[in-house]
Amino acid sequence: MDSWLQGQAPCVVTPEIFRLSRRKNRSVRQALMGNRWVADLSGRITTELLPSFVSFWGRISEMDISEAGDDVFTWKLEASGIYSASSAYRLQFMGSTSSPIMKSVWRAWAPSKIKLFSWLLSIKGLLTADRLMARAWPNSYFCPLCWRSLETADHLFRECLWSLQLWEVAAGRFGIASFLPSSWRPFRTTEDWLEDLSSGSSSPRRARSIALLIVWSIWLERNGRIFKEVERPIGMVFEWITDELATWVQAGGRHLMPRE
Ligand SMILES: [Zn+2]
Repeated sequence: MDSWLQGQAPCVVTPEIFRLSRRKNRSVRQALMGNRWVADLSGRITTELLPSFVSFWGRISEMDISEAGDDVFTWKLEASGIYSASSAYRLQFMGSTSSPIMKSVWRAWAPSKIKLFSWLLSIKGLLTADRLMARAWPNSYFCPLCWRSLETADHLFRECLWSLQLWEVAAGRFGIASFLPSSWRPFRTTEDWLEDLSSGSSSPRRARSIALLIVWSIWLERNGRIFKEVERPIGMVFEWITDELATWVQAGGRHLMPRE
């Protein structure tokens, strides 16, 4: 949209007049020379539209294009007026709010399927029993890790006794205190909780990645129990986590190695 009229575009200032113009694609210079824009409207201005037409005329006549030279396209997002890919990229985020999930999920070092999964978790998009029930879809109601509560995402990852034990083992073995359930603050949203898991750590990047790996391992265990009817004890799941982590280190996640 071309905002040449005191910082605005005619289609915004007077959409009702703009709509009637026969030639909407003239350059500003062409349209203003000899008031061609008026000719473009001839025969179409009705009595109701007269007031807007007159006020628009007033605004146009305040403009002086005699010294302006030819029209040029300028890119408003750069002071230089020249297009740059980085400013176009920033444009996509205009008006968006930054969320903790940006840091705890998207900037973590983890395979993208795990990031995607963690993002789904944070927006309550995982199909746990409570959500399946709400849609009247088949579900097994109980959390397959403890068989004591309705399976909700909150229960599965941060309330279930089975998962709490896994977090505790991981806190001790990896030396990451923020994994200790006793340190978790109550009533945190999933997003905040995911962020808390790496806060206060001497190596937040490492804690962030391992947190996502643990969350993922809980989900895999849950799926194994529901769909394959295979139950692994906590020790075995933890072993799987350390093996997987070793693979991540091999794949380039050097920061994941513990600091001596
Ligand atoms: Zn449970």
